[in-house]
Amino acid sequence: MNERGLVDLFAAMNSLSGPAYECKYYPCHFEGQDCSLCFCIFYPCLLYRFGEIVISHSGKPVWSCKDCFWIHKKENVEEIVTYFSFYPRQVLVEADWYFFSKAFQEILFGKELGYAIGKAYNLMPANFYSYNCKETDERVFLAVKIEEGYLAVRKISDFEDLGEEILIPIKSGNIIKGFYGNRYVECEL
Ligand code: SF4
Repeated sequence: MNERGLVDLFAAMNSLSGPAYECKYYPCHFEGQDCSLCFCIFYPCLLYRFGEIVISHSGKPVWSCKDCFWIHKKENVEEIVTYFSFYPRQVLVEADWYFFSKAFQEILFGKELGYAIGKAYNLMPANFYSYNCKETDERVFLAVKIEEGYLAVRKISDFEDLGEEILIPIKSGNIIKGFYGNRYVECEL
């Protein structure tokens, strides 16, 4: 459970905090940012439009939000708070990553674009959505498991032998590659 994210979300549901001028890290992203959801409820969102996989100091892969401005824009915080205000708090306390990913996709795209494939969840459509993509011969994408803040990442080429993993494109520079629709594609972010 993303406890700090929930604490911030519940606090924001009471009132938005606005810019945290008293914080020694302020502004961590931009002047005037809304700091209500400092610990993002969607972490790790696994959407390359906001972040990317990096190697942490301990040598393990993690999701980096270093360049994500979205969660700090007041209008987005308001939309998130409105969305979750329809749920009893107990439901949110017991919700898992999949619940929050679906919620995030509905907020961003108006509907859930990801879908289950056996025990796995294909988040590639949400990653590729709205980008210009072209077909490629390269058959490659990532299968990711979230493990206590870290990510276990496998590079794979098809949908066989999937466990309880989340499927996302592989990123190189500003290009993401994977499976979208009925073909392998590469898209520029
Ligand atoms: S990249 Fe942004 S939206 Fe995604 S988990 Fe991090 S802070 Fe949240």
